[in-house]
Amino acid sequence: MPRSSEVFKLNTFELPRRAGEMKEYELDIEVPENVGVPLIFVPAGDVIEVDARLESVTEGVLLSASIFATAKGECTRCLDPVEVEIEKKIQELFNYTAKIGRSKKSSSEDELDLEEEFMMDGDIMNLETPIRDAIVLGLPFNPLCSSECLGLCPECGGKWADLPSDHAHESVDARWAALAALDIDLPDFKN
Ligand SMILES: [Zn+2]
Ligand SMILES: [Zn+2]
Repeated sequence: MPRSSEVFKLNTFELPRRAGEMKEYELDIEVPENVGVPLIFVPAGDVIEVDARLESVTEGVLLSASIFATAKGECTRCLDPVEVEIEKKIQELFNYTAKIGRSKKSSSEDELDLEEEFMMDGDIMNLETPIRDAIVLGLPFNPLCSSECLGLCPECGGKWADLPSDHAHESVDARWAALAALDIDLPDFKN
């Protein structure tokens, strides 16, 4: 989907490029593909709401935004549907020109901390990365319907929460079960 990032682009032509000027935008971004982590995400076709305030500063445009969305997934223990309400505030500077000669730290650990640098593309501000990052950071990697979720019975797949407290299965002798599965004639050991 080459055009997927188009929906995240905000044309800021109405914002005067004088430091101190401000403009507010309310955006409803219908996402063309899932946004989130594999087990829980804002599904394609759903809307991410963005209340954005743009401010002209000397180096570029400062974005302050609140992001609202609902991520949907499944409880990793019992497979019930799980929804997570996301409400995140972000602030990012979009530069008019790339900063050259920034000091780079050497160790790889520090490089992970380097903030991503965003650039204006003429009047266009591409909000995709800041919005994606904010949503991913707001999501659990192991979504649960509740932290106390007991999950499923490994024998029958029933939900422990719905099963009677004395729920149990006859334990089958694993050796006999294996032989039975082979479907061969066995001598009668049992008299
Ligand atoms: Zn659960
Ligand atoms: Zn069971």
